[in-house]
Amino acid sequence: MIRVLWFALKLAVLIALATWLADRPGAVAIDWLGYRIETSVGILLAAVVLLVGLTALSYRAWRFLRRSPRSMSQSLQASKRKRGYKALTQGMVAVAAGEADEAARHARRADSLLEEPPLTMLLSAQAAQLKGDEEAAKRYFAAMLENPETRFLGLRGLLTQALRDGDQQQALDYVRQAHDMRPGTPWVLTSLFDLSERCGDLDTAERSLTEAAKAKALPAPEASRKRAVILLEKARAAAHASETLVYARAANKLAPDLVPGAVLLARQEIAAGKKRQAAKVLERAWAVGPHPELAAPYLETQPDGDGLERLKRLGQLTAKQPDHPESHLVLARAALEARLWGEARRHIKAAAGPEGLEGTPRDSVCRLMAELEEQENGDSALARDWLTRSARALKDPAWVCTECGAVAIVWSARCGACESFDALAWQTPPQVAPALTHDGGAAALEMEPAPAPPNPAAS
Ligand SMILES: [Zn+2]
Repeated sequence: MIRVLWFALKLAVLIALATWLADRPGAVAIDWLGYRIETSVGILLAAVVLLVGLTALSYRAWRFLRRSPRSMSQSLQASKRKRGYKALTQGMVAVAAGEADEAARHARRADSLLEEPPLTMLLSAQAAQLKGDEEAAKRYFAAMLENPETRFLGLRGLLTQALRDGDQQQALDYVRQAHDMRPGTPWVLTSLFDLSERCGDLDTAERSLTEAAKAKALPAPEASRKRAVILLEKARAAAHASETLVYARAANKLAPDLVPGAVLLARQEIAAGKKRQAAKVLERAWAVGPHPELAAPYLETQPDGDGLERLKRLGQLTAKQPDHPESHLVLARAALEARLWGEARRHIKAAAGPEGLEGTPRDSVCRLMAELEEQENGDSALARDWLTRSARALKDPAWVCTECGAVAIVWSARCGACESFDALAWQTPPQVAPALTHDGGAAALEMEPAPAPPNPAAS
């Protein structure tokens, strides 16, 4: 608006100047191409000024006309982009809401309006996933691999699809490519660890744990514990005893409380003639977490002796945890073998906890009592009573999966039921008691809550 007023003002000044000049006295004559023009000097000057003014005006008009198609197309483009982004946003909202058809419709519209393949392809792939059209989703993700900008996103999508198909080797291949592109990305490192371990590539699994700890993708203690488990797996898989020993030592250094690791290392040290070393490993493991599987290899660290000798040795193993129930149980068994009835009874009672044998002693306590009554007094009736009690007693600790609750006979790096890594913990399994059905027929299984720990405030 201001520009128009300014232009009108300039034109008015020009006209005024031309009129003023035309009124000036003086004459001029021009002979040109057979024409003769006679006029005053004022008119001539006014004519020249007007001609210059008109030329400038027409130049402006020409420039405006030349520019307008471009600015018109620019505004059209802007409006198209705006509608495209709106369709994209609506598509994402539809994906979040789980509306597959709506998402696909917006994806098509965004694709036709926007020249942004990274965004529209991802939306199209998500819409296809939502519709359950796995093949179309794979096609979109695979197309994203072509463009360096979308390659990483495409790999992530294809990885998810491969995991959904249960194709772990293919998933590992995708995650390796993603790792080459962005080696410090947390999800890449944790997926690389998980998949390489599942596929048996333990070297890559170990390396990815180190990288994950460095990139803070895993807390340092968790990464270190997982590394110990991987090293134990490597020790088990090693072809030569010397390699097994190296890996088992490294695993034990990282996690002295990992019982299967301590047992494997102790046996390797014994085989290598280093019984003193083996005994130290087992004593350290007992100090951080008493476990019955540590007792047998400990007895192998010294030459054979009689029952009393064995009881004394186990006293050394349990020295750092003298009040722990597992310590009392292992000593009670050794005392029974040595036929030291009083000593055996004392340890069994201590293993039963603060309530003693009158409370709810666990399975192994009842069984040891049955053995003691039978062997010491020949009292078969009392022994049978204890065996009956053991059937309903609290179960002994076992390898229980902390993820799915499955109970395993032997420890393994992955739960056999749910495949969780390093999920087996030595703890009391859930209580399962046999119960009769209404018709008195087949027995069904029923869960029984574990008894609550004694409440010191109540006593
Ligand atoms: Zn499990």
